[in-house]
Amino acid sequence: MTQALASPPIVDTHTHLDDPAFDVDRDTVFDASRAAGVRHFLNIGYAPERWESSRALQERHPDVAFALGLHPQLADQYDMSLRQNLQRSVELLNPVAIGETGFDFSRAAPSFASQERAFRGQLEIAAAYGLPIIIHQRDASDALTTELERWPGLAPIVLHSFDGSQRLADWARERGCFVGIGGLATRRSTESLRETLTRMKTDRLLLETDSPYLAPPGSTSRRNDPTNLPRIAAVLASLWNVSGEELCWLTSMNAAGLFGLPTFDWPSTSTAFGPHGEPTASRC
Ligand SMILES: [Zn+2]
Repeated sequence: MTQALASPPIVDTHTHLDDPAFDVDRDTVFDASRAAGVRHFLNIGYAPERWESSRALQERHPDVAFALGLHPQLADQYDMSLRQNLQRSVELLNPVAIGETGFDFSRAAPSFASQERAFRGQLEIAAAYGLPIIIHQRDASDALTTELERWPGLAPIVLHSFDGSQRLADWARERGCFVGIGGLATRRSTESLRETLTRMKTDRLLLETDSPYLAPPGSTSRRNDPTNLPRIAAVLASLWNVSGEELCWLTSMNAAGLFGLPTFDWPSTSTAFGPHGEPTASRC
């Protein structure tokens, strides 16, 4: 146990480790990530074939949890049969969240009507099962907040790979949304994103890589993987005046509570946390 406490626990709340990019060395990536402190991996099953590969990943790696949904870029696939299939899969496979879903207006994407239908269908399922919803949004913050305002009773909302405006950050803070932060916010060009992120409270932060996408600067590979998280946490921690280790603990605690993951043993020597693992100083 002392061994396991050597590094702070990390939860990677957004991975695609079933992606073919990991076919050559997936088990090695898992082992290296665990050695870096990653205790749970949340794999995002964003299309029907990824629901099955997420389930298979969990069967092989019990520290994997998964979300099931349909990516907005694939919204044209949404029809009654996909919806029924998703609902059946939610009942059979016990996902910890619905998603990633939302709006993506950034490039050749399905029509708004199509994205709206797929998004609403998934919001209904999330509401019916009381599951958190993981949101992907690109250039769509107004449409997103307008839609979500219609759903006051939803379980928590996660704004994955947050890159929104100050307005969206303020809305998210007001609404109590969680925000996923990762390598994107460590890029030199994302100064204004870092500034915006300081508006978020630490009890709503989640760490994520979006592996294999969004490799942080300084990576040896263009393929992102969860071993990058300690480095990402160390860079971002100063935004909230905490250490990288504290940011790992805080975000892991947030993720465990939000997704119902098994929690962690608290280090008896750390002064940053009280007897029940609560941070002793809230800095925001
Ligand atoms: Zn994703």
